[in-house]
Amino acid sequence: MARVIEQEPEAVQGGQPSIPETRPEEKPQRLPLGPLQTVHVFWLAGMSCDGCSIAVTGATNPGIEGLLNGIVPAMPKVLLHHPVLSVEAGEEFVQSFKDAVDGTLGAPYVVVYEGSVADERIAARTGGYWCAMGMETIVDREGTHPVPTATWLQRMAPGAAATIAIGTCATWGGVPSADGNPTGAMSLMDFLGKDYRSAFGLPVINIPGCAPLGDNFTETVFAILLYLQGLGPLPTFDELGRPAWLFTETVHQGCSRAGYYEEGTFAEHYGDPECLVEIGCWGPVVNCNIVKRGAINHMGGCMAAGGICIACTMPGFPDKFAPFYKAPPGGIISTTISRSTGLVVRRLRRLSNRHGNREVRWDKLGEVPSGWGHVEAQTPGLKVMEFFYKKWQNWGARKPGRRPGEEDRFWGVQRPGIPSDYIDSSVTEGPGHERH
Ligand code: SF4
Ligand code: SF4
Repeated sequence: MARVIEQEPEAVQGGQPSIPETRPEEKPQRLPLGPLQTVHVFWLAGMSCDGCSIAVTGATNPGIEGLLNGIVPAMPKVLLHHPVLSVEAGEEFVQSFKDAVDGTLGAPYVVVYEGSVADERIAARTGGYWCAMGMETIVDREGTHPVPTATWLQRMAPGAAATIAIGTCATWGGVPSADGNPTGAMSLMDFLGKDYRSAFGLPVINIPGCAPLGDNFTETVFAILLYLQGLGPLPTFDELGRPAWLFTETVHQGCSRAGYYEEGTFAEHYGDPECLVEIGCWGPVVNCNIVKRGAINHMGGCMAAGGICIACTMPGFPDKFAPFYKAPPGGIISTTISRSTGLVVRRLRRLSNRHGNREVRWDKLGEVPSGWGHVEAQTPGLKVMEFFYKKWQNWGARKPGRRPGEEDRFWGVQRPGIPSDYIDSSVTEGPGHERH
């Protein structure tokens, strides 16, 4: 059955534009906390590339399969209504969305929105739409008409246990909202407003990234479900609604190339192994955990794959970070400092590195018996440096290794000066361990 929507004529014609929909008349009841058997997840797509969906299907820790199959301990079974992944199609698929709006679903639900929310008022001026799902009748128009996903969001968000914006388009507007766009694209926060609260009193939860890490999404959903089950506290979110434990640190703080930055060595070309800041990396000022977590299954991630950080998780993306091929101007100060300090630190570290790459025995014999290549002998100057370095290293500490005569304690003989609790009687008195 087609759904009939009451709406103001001028909303369609232009005049004072408004989203062609009103909120449900009755605000849904506040849902009880768990234990819940089932939770519906309604996935809506606005101006998106479907990259967020692909990222979530690649999540492994935790993966979505366990949630969908209801086999994760303490977790309710998740019924996912996804425009691409669901088996149902057409009216059968849309019916569950209608049930959620009407409050007849019989179970709590979470709304996930992928892509930015287009300003449908702009499209409505000419009788069109930007992003839609399903058809329905509108009282003052003939035939059936596509229902904008923005309208579904507006209807469903108030009754949802939680509303999650996934990906940078949904969290901050992203690429579709870049300067010059014709759609008026915006984020969920911009669309729903700062007073929005879900049925459980939560503002919009934001999981940014282009594409986001699938694991960031599934982990956050797990944490929220634990909360809904009454088994865990409400996860901590920062002032922009990001999961705080995932987005507090910067890319740079976890980057495998940060050591190069510290030592003042920088890549000049893509493919170089050093720090990428001088060819455009914004990592030092960007909140993202991809280098720590990897893109999928702890593998990959931007810098691991040789790419610069273009700040795709940030609210200012893309306009505030373009053009991407230019180095961030602010990086000049810190790279100049690390170049000068790195010059000294780097050389000292190479010396220590070389020292640690030799057995003690080789130092004593003065020769490295490697058949793989020639290893330079220590110069007298280096020997003196290493002697004093070792003295400094052992200052105030017991030098590792056994003193003459201490070997006996390992055979169970307590010698003067050696505490008896150093002797493991289970070893010294067991079969085959006779006292001498
Ligand atoms: S590549 Fe980027 S994130 Fe990594 S160390 Fe360099 S500036 Fe920092
Ligand atoms: S490292 Fe930068 S470009 Fe890569 S995912 Fe994170 S924010 Fe986006």
